Amino acid sequence: MSTLLELLKDGRFHSGQALGQALGVSRSAIWKQLQLLEAELGLVIHKVRGRGYQLATPITLLSSAEIGRSSISSGSWDIRILDSTDSTNAQALRSIEEGSVAPFLVLAERQTVGRGRRGRKWVSPFAENIYYSLVLRMDGGLRQLEGLSLVVGLAVMHTLREYGIPGAGLKWPNDVLVGQKKVAGILLELVGDPADVCHVVLGIGINVNMQSAEEIDQEWTSVRLESGKVIDRNQLVARLNEVLVSYLERHRLNGFSAIQGEWEQGHLWQGRAVSLIAGVNKIDGVVLGIDRQGALRLSVEGEEKTYSGGELSLRLRDGS
Ligand code: ATP
Repeated sequence: MSTLLELLKDGRFHSGQALGQALGVSRSAIWKQLQLLEAELGLVIHKVRGRGYQLATPITLLSSAEIGRSSISSGSWDIRILDSTDSTNAQALRSIEEGSVAPFLVLAERQTVGRGRRGRKWVSPFAENIYYSLVLRMDGGLRQLEGLSLVVGLAVMHTLREYGIPGAGLKWPNDVLVGQKKVAGILLELVGDPADVCHVVLGIGINVNMQSAEEIDQEWTSVRLESGKVIDRNQLVARLNEVLVSYLERHRLNGFSAIQGEWEQGHLWQGRAVSLIAGVNKIDGVVLGIDRQGALRLSVEGEEKTYSGGELSLRLRDGS
C-alpha cells in the first residue's frame, strides 16, 4: 500500500509539508503522488489552501493480521492482499499455475477487470467492497464439486444475514439478492481434472460499503445501504471464512444432498414464474426447487424438468 495513502486514510487534513517530511520527499512530489492516487484508484481528495489534503471519506484497508486475528478457521491459510489487480480469480489462477500451495486466499482492494459469469464485468471500486478468491485443492472426484457454487452462495447469504440483512436470499444458481437487488455474486473456476485432482477457485464479490456506482446496469445494493452501518471489511472477511469453512466441511462429509433443503429455504424465487435463458433459447416455467446435485427443477407445461450448466440465467416473468 502506498505510504501516502497510509498517512491519509484517517480522513483528516495533512499539510503538504508534513506529508513531505514523513515521506522524505518534496511537496511537489507529494502533489504528483496525490494526482496518481486520484487517477489510479479513483479516490476523491480534498485540497484546501492553508489546511492541506484530506481523503473525502476515511478508509480502512484490508489487513491479513486483522483477518487472522478474528478467524480461527482460516488461520493456516496464506492470505494475499493486493492493492489492485485485474481480477482476484485471474490472479488466483495464475498463482496455481506458478505452483502456489492451496488453500490460499487472494483479496484485493480493487479489481480493474472484475468479472461475472460469461465475461460480464463486476464493478469493483477501491477499498469499498470485498473481492475474494479462495483456492482449494480437490481430490475427491466429481461428488466434491456437486452443488459447490450453491454452497458458497448459501455461506455468503448466512454471513450477510448475520450482518443485519435478514432479507438476503438466493437466486439460482448463485447470486445473493435483497429483494430484486444484487448484493453479492459468485464465480467458481476450475483447473485440472474434475474427476481426479483439481484446483477450484471460489470467487466472491460482496458489495460492502459502496453507496453509489453509475456503471452497474441492474438493481444492486450493499451491506451498508441495507444495514445503515459502515462495515469493517476485515471482520466481514473473517466471519465469511468461518461460515464458508463450516459449509464446505458439511458438503465434503455429507454431499450436496444434505444441504439441498436449506438452500431451497433461502431461495427467493421458489414457486415463482420464471424464464430460463440459455443463449438465444428461452424456457418458461415455475420454480419447483433444485435437485440433489443443485440443478434447477422447473415445472414446464405441467411436467418437471431439470436444468444445469454455467450458461443458464433465470429471469422473473412479468406478474409472477
Ligand atoms: P445471471 O442471472 O446470469 O447470473 P447477471 O446479469 O446477474 O446474470 P453475473 O455474471 O452474475 O450476471 O454478474 C454480472 C452482472 O452483475 C453485470 O452484468 C452487472 O449487471 C451486475 N454487476 C456488476 N457489478 C456489480 C456489483 N458490484 N454489484 C451488483 N451487480 C453488479
